[in-house]
Amino acid sequence: MALQPNVALGTSATSYPSSHDRIINITATPYFIDNEFRYSSTENLIDVHDPATNNLVTRVPQMAKVELEEAVSSAQEAFPRWRQLSPIARQQFMFRYVHLIRENWDRIAAVITLEQGKTLADARGDVLRGLQVAEAACAGPEYMKGEVLEVAKDMETRTYREPLGVVGVICPFNFPAMIPLWCLPIAVITGNTVVLKPSERAPGAAMILAELAEKAGFPKGVINVVHGSHDTVNYLLDAPEVKAISFVGSNEAGEYIFTKGSANGKRVQANLGAKNHAVIMPDCDKEQTLAAIMAAAFGAAGQRCMALSVVLFVGETKEWLPELVEKVKALRVNGGFEPDADLGPVVTPESKTRIEGLVASAKDEGADIILDGRGYKPQNYPNGNWVGPTIISNATTSMQCYQEEIFGPVLVCLIVDSLEAGIDIINQNPYGNGTAIFTSSGVTAERFRKNVEAGQIGVNVPIPVPLPMFSFTGNKRSVAGGGANTFYGRPGVNFYTQLKTVTLKWAGQARETSKADLAIPNHS
Ligand code: NAD
Repeated sequence: MALQPNVALGTSATSYPSSHDRIINITATPYFIDNEFRYSSTENLIDVHDPATNNLVTRVPQMAKVELEEAVSSAQEAFPRWRQLSPIARQQFMFRYVHLIRENWDRIAAVITLEQGKTLADARGDVLRGLQVAEAACAGPEYMKGEVLEVAKDMETRTYREPLGVVGVICPFNFPAMIPLWCLPIAVITGNTVVLKPSERAPGAAMILAELAEKAGFPKGVINVVHGSHDTVNYLLDAPEVKAISFVGSNEAGEYIFTKGSANGKRVQANLGAKNHAVIMPDCDKEQTLAAIMAAAFGAAGQRCMALSVVLFVGETKEWLPELVEKVKALRVNGGFEPDADLGPVVTPESKTRIEGLVASAKDEGADIILDGRGYKPQNYPNGNWVGPTIISNATTSMQCYQEEIFGPVLVCLIVDSLEAGIDIINQNPYGNGTAIFTSSGVTAERFRKNVEAGQIGVNVPIPVPLPMFSFTGNKRSVAGGGANTFYGRPGVNFYTQLKTVTLKWAGQARETSKADLAIPNHS
């Protein structure tokens, strides 16, 4: 690798993009190894466009195999020294890291808005939800504590949590800061080293997180960032040094990654797609419910795995649909840097075409498009990937718009005559990320909680994503492998550590007899 002095990111904590203006000098996104940014030697570059304009923003390399090998070797070499540090020593790096992320909060958010399209306010939330995981990870030493029990008169068993080694992290486009931060802080505080691959559609936030890791003093090789798409993922899945894979993204990629990673003997945690339902009961607070539905269906242009994409109107609440439409019409769709924007564009032209196709299919299959956002364009951004908020009513569960994850600003509405009918629909849906009920009855909420099969339930809370002292607990097809390995919180620590048990008997505590007993110990 030729020496590349002074490769640096073009932004700083005080200087970062603030508009969708065309960028004149486009630079490739570097990768990050041994605490240095480097440019890939490849000519195979993936263009990243600003979704509001489709102007080119950067190019992401499909890194050469030799460069990927260097990244994994860097992480492998760093591991023995990093794991030897005391938990308290590792904690000091994390304290500095969270401070730096907070200092660079607006910068990271701005890069997300530019590359991914979400509004600046929403991008700040993306950073915050990741930062909160990093802050909680500062308590790593507490989570690493083992247990001890005197299992017999002269014997005790202790547990130790030990790091796994090099872990790979593969991220989606829709939360460019939060998802890397679901993984990095917990992996490193527990003594692992990391090779992270951001989405090739939104790499910038991960690059800033890499720069800040170096500033926080993390030793060379503890945190590395590589780029590319399928080839890079396949490399990480095959590399024997990589002991675990964290993946967040679509079912298509995630089910493949889970199967291949597991077959290669790695631990894999994989969060996948979703179709989240809300149930609206007649006794709910109508105003608050409609506002909550609107925010959860159309925020981030519906590109959230916990977006509410289906609403089940129970009984007379179907009469509220026209009011919902009027409220949603008031949402402003605009470039994410515009202060008045409620939602931005969708990520790519392909995504827009796919979303519009699903809306068209709903009409063909007999549903009503009661608010149609197709064809909308904000005046100043005619070339972006725009889809205005869209509401489909009179849908049925057999329609394509119900069966597929749309991942756009499209709300599918079904009318049911009872809570039980709503629960049946939710339980028959293959996904199980989240669901919400809107009601003023504790009894109804409790009936819903007990009977519904989704991993994260909101009661009058539209997006019930748990804070980092809990864990992200999707289920069914929204996770691979039955959801045994959930992200962050104590289960996140468990994922990134191997439990070791030690059973001890000291000579001084030996029993009276020294005769060998060949029966299995009964610990009496
Ligand atoms: P994606 O699956 O297209 O990409 C995710 C990552 O996988 C990327 O880094 C990409 O390079 C890689 N990848 C994609 N296809 C691959 C393949 N065939 N082989 C190997 N690697 C591959 O997902 P996306 O479009 O970036 O993200 C949106 C999806 O992520 C949605 O389905 C959403 O529901 C899901 N998501 C889920 C959660 C959750 O916690 N459940 C959170 C965020 C996003």
